[in-house]
Amino acid sequence: MESNGTAQYCQNCGQALDSTAKFCPNCGTAREASQPQSAPTQTQAGPMHPPPQSGPSAGKILAWILGILGVLIGIPIALVFLIILLRLLGIF
Ligand SMILES: [Zn+2]
Repeated sequence: MESNGTAQYCQNCGQALDSTAKFCPNCGTAREASQPQSAPTQTQAGPMHPPPQSGPSAGKILAWILGILGVLIGIPIALVFLIILLRLLGIF
């Protein structure tokens, strides 16, 4: 009996396996666990949730500041435009 060093046997049932066989023809067990097949993990294809903002209050404060500035600047400009318009109309 000559024994080839490349003889493979099933780890489960001891069935002689062909060198190219990936599974035992007898019991179906995978021949070797030396090559862990990259299991197709679940792809995270879900909807991308935007990361929570570190400071949600900062945005509100900025909005408030912009709003107040807009009012403080917008009212005088509106008054100036109104005065100019009235002067153009000859009322003043
Ligand atoms: Zn087997």
